[in-house]
Formats: sequence, C-alpha cells, structure tokens
Amino acid sequence: MKKIKRYFFIIPILFILFIAGQYYFFNHSYVPQKSSFPIKIEEIRDLCKYDTLLPTHINAIITGTGELIPWTIAAGEKNIPNQSVLTSFQIVYANRTVVVDAPMNEKLFKKYRYGKEFLKENFYLQQKAMQNADLIIFTHEHIDHMGGIVNLPNVEALSGNILLTRNQIKSSKIEDVGINEQFLRKLETLDYKNFFMITPGIVLIEAPGHSKAHQMIFVKLQNGTEYLLAGDAVWNYANIEKAKNRPLFATMFGGENRRQLGHLIRWLHDLDKNEDIHIIPSHDPNVIKHYMKQNLLGKTLIN
Ligand SMILES: [Zn+2]
Repeated sequence: MKKIKRYFFIIPILFILFIAGQYYFFNHSYVPQKSSFPIKIEEIRDLCKYDTLLPTHINAIITGTGELIPWTIAAGEKNIPNQSVLTSFQIVYANRTVVVDAPMNEKLFKKYRYGKEFLKENFYLQQKAMQNADLIIFTHEHIDHMGGIVNLPNVEALSGNILLTRNQIKSSKIEDVGINEQFLRKLETLDYKNFFMITPGIVLIEAPGHSKAHQMIFVKLQNGTEYLLAGDAVWNYANIEKAKNRPLFATMFGGENRRQLGHLIRWLHDLDKNEDIHIIPSHDPNVIKHYMKQNLLGKTLIN
C-alpha cells in the first residue's frame, strides 16, 4: 500500500517534468523584444550613398533540393513548409561579377543530411560562374555554402579571387568542408568588425549565431533596390515574419548560439517590417522563387 502511495506522487511529478521539458526544449522561442544586434541600417546605406559603380542585378541558382526536419525550423511552429534548397548568388556589375556561396558537389551532397535531389546542370553552371567571377565570398563556413570550392577545377589559379574572413579561416567547422590546409593558407583573408564595404554596393555584415563566422551580405543596385542575403541566420522567412527562433534542442544540436540568434532575428524582423529591403534566407525556396517571378532575382547565373 505504501509503495502505491509513493508512485501516486511520482507519476504527476514526472508528467509535469515531461510537459515542462517539452516546452523548454521544443516549443519555447527565445527572441527578445528589443535587439542588441549592433548594426544600424543607416550606416550601411551611407556607405553605398555616393557610389556610381553599383551592381545592375542579382542572379540566383538552386543546385540541390532537400527537406528540413519540420519541428527544427521555428519553435512551436509545425506548419512551416520544410522544403529547403541549396543556393548560390551572382551579383552582376557592368563588367564583373561577385559570387556568394558555393554549395557542395554531388559526392558531398550524398552525405548531406537534408539533401533530396542534386541538380547537376545547375551545379555545373555555378562552378563555371565561380571560374568567371572576380570575387567569391561566403556567408559562412559550412559545407552547403563553401563545399563547392573543394573540387573546383583550376582552383589554385582562382585562389586570389576567393576571399574568406579571418573568422571563417579560424573556425573549427572549416575542417568539415574538406578544403586542403595548404590551399587555405594561400587564400585572401579579411578582418573586419561589425561591417565592411568590400566593393561598391556590397557590404558584409558580421552576424554570428548560426556559426561563429557567419555574415550577411547587403547589396544595393544601381536602381536603388536593396537586398540582404541572410545566409542561415534563419532557414525560413517565417522565422523573420513571426520573430521565432529555432527550438533549443535544434540550436544545441546544431552548435548555435541561441542568444545571438534571438537578437539577430528580432533585428531582421524589425528591418523587414520597417524598411524596403528584400531579405533572402539561403535555404527558403519560396522566397527565392517569389523574387525570381518578380524579376528581382535572375533565374540562372550568367557565364
Ligand atoms: Zn546552410
């Protein structure tokens, strides 16, 4: 009888712990009401104010499709579309191009946790665009954004055009990408704090959280249109629209800094609400297709 009485108390306690744990790890979203992310968009715009040599347009290409685990995208939100894509962007000037991100090749794609279909022809076009680019930059040091330079033909000759930030080179995650260490040492590296205009109309913005060396890329075109290539700050536009972080369990599993992400998501949410800037998360197919339809993104890369 005594034993039954003891269990009588344990069962509700376990039940409460289970509910609280589920909320804490899976449903609670950390996004503060006020962001401490240190960037003011006016300062970024100021840098591009007087430039006449701005890019004319941006192209995008999808080199692979996949599916994310639905509950990992935004805490407590189960109805967000979980389709995901691997994307590269090409910022086009009158006489030169800048490529942003190099998704991985087919061999690496087969090992990619979220991969479904590898788009061979598009991957080839992306690789060709890198061969012809004046500059190749990366949102961050993960394989789905940098893996495409691993077996890039003639990569040694292109090393002067590939620019990594010092944080990207130093990151322990870069080992997973599989770039040969000697080659890494040859690459141009950039050290900056907060933000840096790398060439007219392109400003790099330090945005750690998803990874230590994550950056977003602000672009202003000649016609005044503004973009923010947001990399993996979020995986889906819904994170920005609803101001929702990923669940704690997912951020822990992915080695993310949830506090930094929370402040960054609030900043992106406020920016999206108040400014006419096209924010593009790398992996959201609906955003990319929407802008392609509106001719705000070219549908393939030019070579
Ligand atoms: Zn990614």
